[in-house]
Amino acid sequence: MSGNSYTCPYCQHDIVLQGDDVQYNEIGFRFPAGRVKHGLTGLRLNSYVCPNQNCQELAITVHWLKLIRYESVPTEQDAWGEHLHTWQLRPESSAKPQPEYIPSQIVKDYYEACRIRDLSPKASATLSRRCLQSMIRDFWGVKDKHNLYQEIEAIKEKVDTETWEAIDSMRGVGNIGAHMEKDVDLIVSVEPEEAQLLLGLIETLFTEWYVAKYDRKQRMGALKRLGEKKKAATRKTPDSAARDSS
Ligand SMILES: [Zn+2]
Repeated sequence: MSGNSYTCPYCQHDIVLQGDDVQYNEIGFRFPAGRVKHGLTGLRLNSYVCPNQNCQELAITVHWLKLIRYESVPTEQDAWGEHLHTWQLRPESSAKPQPEYIPSQIVKDYYEACRIRDLSPKASATLSRRCLQSMIRDFWGVKDKHNLYQEIEAIKEKVDTETWEAIDSMRGVGNIGAHMEKDVDLIVSVEPEEAQLLLGLIETLFTEWYVAKYDRKQRMGALKRLGEKKKAATRKTPDSAARDSS
């Protein structure tokens, strides 16, 4: 979210939040001085309600912050110090809703990868790689390859250079998760940011492959129906009938 513009995580509408749509609630913990190793801390609860009449969903995030001073309620901005942790309560993850014409197993893997991104970036990256592999097999019909490396090579000529380079650059992330059995002692860490980059790639491919193909099919279908309607109408006019018989 930047400024007051907001993309609702439920309906994906771009919205400008008004005063009524946002609420902040603050709690300062009242433990005796020196009792908690983190010092004086508190929670800041941010709630956003979607103004779209068909949605009206509530998104909730909780921030755990250091308190510089604690009076009755730490509402002033300058009372808050260092940021300690954030919990995304609603929706549970940053997953974007996907249309039902994308194979459900692929979408399920994607949702799961989003849910565990912060908890286990490595497991998330592994699931994202599985998503990528399933998409290459399903969408491009790539078969009989031994691994994801070969599968990505197989679509090199089919996708545009930019897309292929993006896929290629993500190839190494989460690699160890997919080949754990080969070397159990080798630990390659995956940062949440890397796991998120992979999720971003999956989302882009959903849009550029499945959604674009579906939209094109819908447009072509509409054009075809319009063409047939025109043709049928032309056939019915007496002028054209006369022309046809001459
Ligand atoms: Zn919404």
